[in-house]
Amino acid sequence: MNKRPMNRRLYIVAALVMASMGMPVAGGTGLRAANAADAKLTGTAIGSSPSVDYSSGSSTTTKNIPADAFDGNLNTFFASYERTYTWVGLDLGSKHVITKVGWSPRNDGLGEGRVRLAVFEGANQPDFMDAIPLYVNDKTGTIGTMDYADVDCSVGFRYVRYVGPNDSRCNVAEVEFYGYKGEGDSTRLYRPTNLPCVVIHTKNNQDPYDKVNYIESMVTILGADGSVLRDTAGLRLRGNASINFPKKPYRIKFASKHKVLDSPAKAKNWTLINNYGDKTLMRNIVAFHVSEVCRMPYTPFCRPVDVLVNGEYKGCYQLCDKIEVKKGRVSIDEMAPTDLAGNALSGGYLWEIDGYANQEPSPYYSPHGVPITIHSPKDDEIVPAQREYFESYFRALEERVYKSSANDSTWRQYIDYPSFARYFLTNEVCGNPDMIWSCYMYKKRNDTKAYTGPVWDFDIAFDNDYRIYPVSNHKEFIFGGASNAESFARHIVFADQRTRDEMLEYWHQARNNGISVEELIAFVDNTAAELDASQQLNFIRWPILNQKVHMNPVALGTYNGEVIRLKEFLRMRIKWMDSKLNYTWHPLENVSGVENTGCDMTGGYRVYDIQGRKIYEGEQLPALPSGLYIIQHNGITNKILL
Ligand code: CA
Repeated sequence: MNKRPMNRRLYIVAALVMASMGMPVAGGTGLRAANAADAKLTGTAIGSSPSVDYSSGSSTTTKNIPADAFDGNLNTFFASYERTYTWVGLDLGSKHVITKVGWSPRNDGLGEGRVRLAVFEGANQPDFMDAIPLYVNDKTGTIGTMDYADVDCSVGFRYVRYVGPNDSRCNVAEVEFYGYKGEGDSTRLYRPTNLPCVVIHTKNNQDPYDKVNYIESMVTILGADGSVLRDTAGLRLRGNASINFPKKPYRIKFASKHKVLDSPAKAKNWTLINNYGDKTLMRNIVAFHVSEVCRMPYTPFCRPVDVLVNGEYKGCYQLCDKIEVKKGRVSIDEMAPTDLAGNALSGGYLWEIDGYANQEPSPYYSPHGVPITIHSPKDDEIVPAQREYFESYFRALEERVYKSSANDSTWRQYIDYPSFARYFLTNEVCGNPDMIWSCYMYKKRNDTKAYTGPVWDFDIAFDNDYRIYPVSNHKEFIFGGASNAESFARHIVFADQRTRDEMLEYWHQARNNGISVEELIAFVDNTAAELDASQQLNFIRWPILNQKVHMNPVALGTYNGEVIRLKEFLRMRIKWMDSKLNYTWHPLENVSGVENTGCDMTGGYRVYDIQGRKIYEGEQLPALPSGLYIIQHNGITNKILL
């Protein structure tokens, strides 16, 4: 089959020459016209069954059937009785590489719009569970006209299909596939945009319907680097408020553990964040970046992706870690049911101060009324001794926190202040009113302290909550949540002068490490560029830019307008944080009197007292009494007055 690629190259060269001469290049919506080597393929017409008879509104197997989409007649059409996940295609009898597809809308009033977001797929299983996309059409059609697109996918498929967009009953007058017989290879795979693509097929096209029952699925993740991950999986809904939006958030549970894309964790459980109320589609991405810059010990993995379910384009999502105890996630000892005494009983525990705890199977309410969901061990699996240990531990912790004062800092034996302060700063600079409504904490084995984090869920942060909009008008920090949880957090934030001094020091580090107007705006601009193709498809699927949804305080009508609003928020918020913390920015590097030794520690700290005695070496800057220190960090040596 050496002949084909040669023809393709020659054609592309010819097309480029024609284009450079100002000549139109034929080929409908595609890049080029049919190549002589691309035969129009024939096979057995297949599709969703039954069809619909529009004259009676009832189901039929004799009218508007799959063969009507392959009869060469633009006035006959296929229409399914079902409304969604409906399709028509060909069984080619053997594997073929598809090089071009064509389609034409049904000749009726709604026809032209019904081909927009149609998805072409190829598969080698007759149920299409293993299908991957060949092309996603983002344009309306023209009645009486075929549109064509080139297909850039080198895999050979026996089964190919056109899947109509949501609620379309497929409704297509004509579909064509071009290509050549062959096994093909996986050197070229199509994705709808530059982003990785998560391709999901559920058994019998079932939609997940709750947070308990997993639907049997096949999940294929197409990486931007050409990588392919495929495994059987369960698919269910996830989330709280976000579960009620028409664009659904999903949990994927693979049959086996995998690293996905460039994730650090190898795990079965992954989440797809739906970003319905967040029209920038990037609030979590920006917040997780801030979390990293603030040096939270662990920031969840998060990558923007396109999602297809059963051949339907669902939108731009974020593929993220599930928050759980696991290497590469909350990396602490995982408890076994047999861990019943001594050190083994002391951890690890992962829990969440949770405004939605009352919806969980067995929530815990502390004596001061802090609502808690225990996540690890799972609240419905935790054995009584472990639950008793945790409740007793949290009671002791809470008691110390409520007694915090200038004269009593014993709460520090229970609360790891660096992670708390960094969590607080990350959420405040992002303006997240949910920071204590949902706040993860964990306890390590044989360690009395509770660590705060990871950060999670910034959908209504960055001025996206009408209840507190605009955040810049508030004189106080905006952290809040269920009132008892807020009270608990308040006792830590305002414990004493030392906590305020240390908070300022962590802010100083963050301001020197990437929290600046220029750096964050550059980050937002880069992310917007990365998301641009995907956001266009997303808002074709979900045309809500003119609509206030969820907690939106305004609707600006354009994606770019929403991104500008996010940047304006950051511009004002950093200034506000500086002012609130009474902080004047100064670079770490410019502190004089210490020669930079070019130490190579990355991400960690070495601390020396002024006599040059090393007093600390580790991952996090410890709480230090006031004084003069020499600190090595990120290859730089500084003298710092605390
Ligand atoms: Ca037809």
